[in-house]
Amino acid sequence: MVADLNGTPLAVRHRATAARSVHRVLDGLVELVIAALAAAGESQPLCAAGVSIPGEVDSTNGTCLHAFNFGWHGIPVADLLAQRLGVPVSAHPDAKAALRAEVAEGAARDAMDVALLFEDQGIGMALISGGAMVHGTKGIAGEIGHCHVPGATEECNCGKAGCLETVASAPALALATRKLLGDQADALLPHRPRLADLARLGMPDVDGLLAHAGHEVGIAASWLINLMNPQVLILGGGFPDAGESFLNAFSAAMSAQALSEASECVTVRASSIPEGAEVRGAVLAALELAARL
Ligand SMILES: [Zn+2]
Repeated sequence: MVADLNGTPLAVRHRATAARSVHRVLDGLVELVIAALAAAGESQPLCAAGVSIPGEVDSTNGTCLHAFNFGWHGIPVADLLAQRLGVPVSAHPDAKAALRAEVAEGAARDAMDVALLFEDQGIGMALISGGAMVHGTKGIAGEIGHCHVPGATEECNCGKAGCLETVASAPALALATRKLLGDQADALLPHRPRLADLARLGMPDVDGLLAHAGHEVGIAASWLINLMNPQVLILGGGFPDAGESFLNAFSAAMSAQALSEASECVTVRASSIPEGAEVRGAVLAALELAARL
């Protein structure tokens, strides 16, 4: 997304990629930036950039500590992009970028205690407590997708087993659905299904998988609510479109398990930012960077 210095979006370009190589992904990003700048027709030069990454990022220096789904470890993404674009770049985990946008102009505008559960291939979480984003000692705070679900045993990309994202992320549920449907699956599902694609099938067995996933995410939310007592809990990424089976099971498990005093004061909302809250959050981070130049 290219925006002017007021934050007004001027052009957006998307591209899906199967690339995992750092250099191929970053080269592809630079091509997209060039295409979006051309589409924006902006006469001013690019002055800063922000990038959201599906993984753990040390936001102080823009290094991606891990992006398990890409196989990235210790990659200085902000520096590598800055070399290519010739402007300062900041890098952020996708859930934290999304939450930044939700608080600035979305579903949690001006709220001081907000949690966001975010699904986009993996599962992440971001938290604003007392008005401040929680990063943790090394920027790892929020990795709820790698917390263990009792009884779950599937291996996870992080090297452990039974993590929440092996139960409730789109790739995990797509794998389970393909096992259920066999040869039928290719005709019914896109190459990389999102939760909405699975919900759209309307098949009782698949709805059962989605309900199980919703239950486990609801249990995770109940821990989060008891621990952090947020006033707003946002469902972001693929979660809001995961269908009735998922969302009903999510709400039931969360309400049943969270302390009633904590659950009574939390409002659950879907992300309200079109074009992807994490993309918008990266633009807002770039604007902050530009303001400091
Ligand atoms: Zn894991």
